[in-house]
Amino acid sequence: PGEQLPQDPEKKTLVVLGSGWGATSFLKNLDTEEFNVIVISPRNYFLFTPLLPSVTVGTLEARSLIQPTRFITRHKKRNVLVYEAQAQEVDPVNKTVTFTDNSEIQGSSSTVTVAYDYLVYAVGCENQTFGIKGVTEHACFLKELSDADKIRQRLMDCIETAAFPGQSEEEIDRLMHMVIVGGGPTGVEYAGELHDFLIDDLRKWYPEIADKLRITLIEALPNVLPAFSKELIRYTESTFKENEIEVLTRTIVKDVGSKSVLVQDANKEEREIPYGLLVWATGNTSRPITRNLLAKLPNIQTQRRGIVVDDYLSMLGADGVFAVGDCTATQYAPTAQVASQQGQYLAQMFGRIGLKAKYERKLAKLRASGDASPEKLENIVKKLNRVSKVTPFHYSHQGSLAYIGSEKAIADLPLFNGNVASGGGAAMLFWRSAYVSTLYSVRNRTLVMADWMKVKLFGRDVSRE
Ligand code: FAD
Ligand code: NAD
Repeated sequence: PGEQLPQDPEKKTLVVLGSGWGATSFLKNLDTEEFNVIVISPRNYFLFTPLLPSVTVGTLEARSLIQPTRFITRHKKRNVLVYEAQAQEVDPVNKTVTFTDNSEIQGSSSTVTVAYDYLVYAVGCENQTFGIKGVTEHACFLKELSDADKIRQRLMDCIETAAFPGQSEEEIDRLMHMVIVGGGPTGVEYAGELHDFLIDDLRKWYPEIADKLRITLIEALPNVLPAFSKELIRYTESTFKENEIEVLTRTIVKDVGSKSVLVQDANKEEREIPYGLLVWATGNTSRPITRNLLAKLPNIQTQRRGIVVDDYLSMLGADGVFAVGDCTATQYAPTAQVASQQGQYLAQMFGRIGLKAKYERKLAKLRASGDASPEKLENIVKKLNRVSKVTPFHYSHQGSLAYIGSEKAIADLPLFNGNVASGGGAAMLFWRSAYVSTLYSVRNRTLVMADWMKVKLFGRDVSRE
C-alpha cells in the first residue's frame, strides 16, 4: 500500500514527520546517500523557540527566528522531498503515512498515502488546556510564530482601546491587565518581556495610560519555575516583585470567560479576575495524530503523555518507527535540548543503518560473482559487524536558561560536578551569547543581533499591522 514517490526503488524510504527541533537536528546530521528521504510538516520552516517570547512585544521580529526546511535539505547528497502537509494518520502495521495539504490554496491532489521503511516521528505536542472551558476561544498560546504575532496584535489592540476617548476607569483597568496562566519557563519569560515593553516603550508612547498596565502571573503550584533551583526561583520571584509583576501561586484557573478568568486560591476561595489579554502557558499534551497512533497499539503503548521508546529511540511495538522530542514519554523534560540531541543521535544511527545496507549489497554482489577472495569477504563482514553495533541514547544536560526581564536572566548550569545557579546581568549576557551561538544560521544570528541593536537605538515598534 501507499504511493511510490519519484525516488530510487533500490533504497529504503525514510519518512520524517515534523520540522521542529527533533526533525531539524536529525535532518541536519543525516547522511541521505542510502535513503529516499521524505519530510512532511505543516510548517515549511524551523522555528527557534527559545527566543519566541521576544517576538510577542517586538524585541525580535518573527522572521529572524525561522529558517526554511529546504535550506537544510538542499545541501544534502541526494534529493530530499519536502512537503508542506499535515500527517493525518500513521499505520504502523502496513507501514504507511497519510498526509494532507491543509493550507488555504488547494490543488487537484491534497491527500496522499506513502509507504515507509523507516519513520522518524517528531511532531512535537500541542498546548495543554486540561479541558478548561473557554481557553481555546479566549486565550492566546505561545508555541508557534503565529501565536507570538497574535499576542503582539492583541496586546496593542488592548492598549489602543484603553487609550480610546471616554473609556471608563474600570474598562481601562481591565484592558490594561495582562494575565498569564502557568509559571513554567514560557509564562515567566513572557512576563519578563512584557515588563520590558512597559518600561522601555509604553511609558514613552502611551504616557497617559502606561502606568495602568498590570501583569499577573497565575501558577497552581507553590512557586514558579519548579524545574529550576530554589535559589533561582527566589531570585525570579524577587525580581518580579521589584518589577511589580504580581505572582499568584497556589492559584488555579478553573474557567475562562471572554473578559475574566475564574480562579481558586489555596483556601478554595473563588474569584473573578478581569483581563484584557490572556496568555495560556500550562504545558504540553499529545497531538491527535499521536493519540491515534498510541490507540493502535493499546497493549504496548500505554502512556497517554506520549510515545514510549526503547533506549535506541525505537517506538515499542512499531517496526521501523523512531520517535524524538516532545511527542515521546521519556524520563527527560520536553525541551529543545533533549529533542535536538535525540535527533542527532538518530542521524548517527541512520548513518550506521545506511552503511549496513551498503555493505550488505556489496557482500551479496561479491558472493553472487563467486570470484571474491575469502579475505575480501571477511573484511566486509567485519565492517558489517562494526556498523551493526549501536550504543543507547545518552542525554547530556547543558543547563537551563531563562530570561526574566529588566536585562536579567537565570542560569542553572551543571558545572564543576555540581550545579551553578546564577541570576542577573552576567547571566543575561550568557543567555544572549548562548542563544545567538545556537541559532540556526549566520543569517538568523545577523537578524537577531540587528533586531536587538534596532530596539536599543529606536525602541520597539508599537504599530499594529
Ligand atoms: P517541535 O519543535 O514543536 O516540532 C514539531 C514539528 O512537527 C513542527 O514542525 C510542527 O509543525 C510539526 N507537526 C505538527 N503536527 C504535525 C503533523 N500532523 N504532521 C507532521 N508534522 C507535524 N526548550 C529548551 O530546551 N530551551 C528553551 O529555552 C526553550 N524555550 C522555549 C520557549 C517557548 C516559547 C516554547 C514554546 C518552548 C521552548 N522550549 C525550550 C521547548 C522546545 O521548544 C521544545 O521542547 C521543542 O520544540 C521540542 O522539539 P520537537 O521537535 O519535539 O517539537
Ligand atoms: P510547564 O509545563 O513547564 O509549566 C506549566 C505550568 O503551568 C506548571 O508550573 C503548572 O503547575 C501550571 N499550571 C497548569 N495548569 C494550571 C492552571 N489551571 N492554573 C494555573 N497554573 C497552572 O510549561 P511551559 O512553561 O510551557 O514549558 C513547556 C516545556 O518547554 C518545559 O519542558 C520547559 O522546560 C520548556 N521550556 C523551556 C524554556 C527555557 O528553558 N527557557 C522556555 C520555555 C519552555
